[in-house]
Amino acid sequence: MKTVREFLGVDIQREQYAYADDPLAGHVSAQRLADHWVKTTCGYCSVGCGMMLGIRDGKAVAARGNPDHPVNGGKLCPKGLAEHHAITAPGRATHPMLRRNGRLSRVSWSDAIATMAMEFRRIQERYGNEAIGVISTGQLVTEEFYTLGKLVQLGLRTPHYDGNTTLCMATAVAGYKRSFGSDGPPGAYEDFALADVILLLGANIAENHPILCRHLDANPRKTLIVADPRVTKTAMMADLYLPLRPRSDLALLNGIAHLLVRDGLVDRAFVDAHTEGYSELCTFLERYTPEYVSGITGLSIAQLHQVAVLYGRAKRGMIAWTMGVNHSSIGVETVNAINNLALLTGNIGRPGASPFSITGQCNAMGTREAGFTSSLPGYRKFESEADRAELATLWNLPVERIPTARGLAYPDIIEAALARKIRGLWIIATNPVVSFPNRDVLRQALGNLEFFVVQDGFHPTPTSELVDLVLPAATWGEKEGTYTNSERRVSKVSPAVAPPGEAKPDFDIFLALAGQLGCADELFPGWSSPRDAFEEWRSVSAGRLCDYSGITWELLEEHGGIQWPFPAGTSESPNGVRRLYEECFFQTSTGRARLLCGDWKPFPEQPSADFPLVLNTGRTVEHWHTRTKTGAIPILHTLSPRAWLEMNPRDARALGLRPHQRVDVVSARGAVQRVELRITEIVAPGQVFMPFHFVEWNANAVTQSEFDPVSREPNYKQCAVRVEASAAARS
Ligand code: SF4
Repeated sequence: MKTVREFLGVDIQREQYAYADDPLAGHVSAQRLADHWVKTTCGYCSVGCGMMLGIRDGKAVAARGNPDHPVNGGKLCPKGLAEHHAITAPGRATHPMLRRNGRLSRVSWSDAIATMAMEFRRIQERYGNEAIGVISTGQLVTEEFYTLGKLVQLGLRTPHYDGNTTLCMATAVAGYKRSFGSDGPPGAYEDFALADVILLLGANIAENHPILCRHLDANPRKTLIVADPRVTKTAMMADLYLPLRPRSDLALLNGIAHLLVRDGLVDRAFVDAHTEGYSELCTFLERYTPEYVSGITGLSIAQLHQVAVLYGRAKRGMIAWTMGVNHSSIGVETVNAINNLALLTGNIGRPGASPFSITGQCNAMGTREAGFTSSLPGYRKFESEADRAELATLWNLPVERIPTARGLAYPDIIEAALARKIRGLWIIATNPVVSFPNRDVLRQALGNLEFFVVQDGFHPTPTSELVDLVLPAATWGEKEGTYTNSERRVSKVSPAVAPPGEAKPDFDIFLALAGQLGCADELFPGWSSPRDAFEEWRSVSAGRLCDYSGITWELLEEHGGIQWPFPAGTSESPNGVRRLYEECFFQTSTGRARLLCGDWKPFPEQPSADFPLVLNTGRTVEHWHTRTKTGAIPILHTLSPRAWLEMNPRDARALGLRPHQRVDVVSARGAVQRVELRITEIVAPGQVFMPFHFVEWNANAVTQSEFDPVSREPNYKQCAVRVEASAAARS
């Protein structure tokens, strides 16, 4: 209803546009004036920016970069700057909801947890313990990952537990384990500022990890090489851009290695002292001649020479990668080929010299270190008797309770549900109906379940709509713990506001379920807060590569983030930059790193007469994953409200398509309809690109069920499609 002032035309909306002075932020909108600020860490991506969350009257009203934080020095990207809105966004889950007579309705927490425990136990009694699967996320705090891992593996006694991190970082994990004997990114952000030559491979950091550009910008001497099939914003920053063909990166890396060997650019002293497999690798590389590699990649022989000479002669060479490498059915071999280049040239364990995976989610690293999914906590190995015995002692449990092999990975849990081997599923803070490849197969699998639980900060989501039980979780800004970023820097996450309605921190939900299952006293004796989990995790990590034993929450608050390893009694400053393998002693049985041979193969689904184009998927700076949060934040939604399809003008002309026309993207599995067409030379002829964030234009309606055989990461980046004018546009 209009106010009298509006009716008279004299409403100047004084309150909306009023300004005020904030001691931290200066002259700001009065609506964003905080009565106090809480130090925390951004809850979106793995860059791990330190931030200040402004609170007024118990509500989050502003977000600012923390000027003292070593990662971002006060800067934030658009998502970080608007992150306070995520807490108050519409669609938060506020009450437990149980499906009765086909409808979800409110229940008490005690009924929700009792029903969940009863249904999971019923399924396990009927079909065996392994009939329960659990899929979590990269967005809990490390303390919650540690607690959840123990609860699932030792309390529920099912090994089939994985994270959605398998959809983004499992390839880097498996690649590190094969090359160096353990997971763990070796380098530091400082390497971007110190390297002579930086090769970014399948890493559009300007869009996906924007604050890392600050570290690149701090290096005026670097030569930046960017290899990507699409002319991304990051490619535009390059000194040398390599427009390689889709999924030819492994051939490129093998080709560079061939030239390093052939042209005497190998650091033989390093190779002889610290690696194994050199002679086998040299024999293997013989066929990766510049002519052969040029034919696969589409790059010229001169470009291949230029890259080999630049990287081979660099005193400090860095190779960083992210999803362009990981989202591949030959991703692990590609990571091994990256590590080969670093080892052949001795570019590891020194300032400016590292192979470096840029992680996806804010705490994907935490689940890798502590989570009990692809490794036992502390990067221990399931297959190691000594590792299992050590954990059994630390936990005061019989060693037989510690699993001897990892359970099914995420895609295999879905396959097992499809085959009715998994009958109960618990999904935590992820939205597979939008994010999992080949959506229709996923829907069939979820439809087979006897009991399906989603625990999330938001409801309804496309996934939570399908469940039997919704557990409302507190989200970032409402709970406490730690995140670890891509450079192994542990930072504190602090609660600033209360969760809405009856929502609870994930940690409290895990303890409540443990209580109902009767394993709380055994697994979590005396625990009442995430700090109890952190203290135990510190002792479990002691002596491991990811040693947290010298880190305390107080030190994190004081220093704004500390890189592991940081053993108890460390005399170095917590602020010091640490790298792995400075002593060149690797985590393999021999202490030597492995040079590995991985042969290039064409990607699984090649273009055909019916589906002549290669679809590449990716992200945009405004949005996060499936837009559960960012789609509900007006400024981010307004900046990027819909999906689009990029197509080269040559293909658009051949198909008779016009800019901004609505088109359908069709594969052998399904179709995405009425996508806005953008005609641009950012993509090469024969290729199209589409962001994967939008449920309304779900790219995973067309992507395929192809996975890396080792990491089980999906081959999201290439599938064969055709593009046609949408029906309404044709008429
Ligand atoms: S770069 Fe990542 S961590 Fe930093 S503000 Fe943006 S989303 Fe948050």
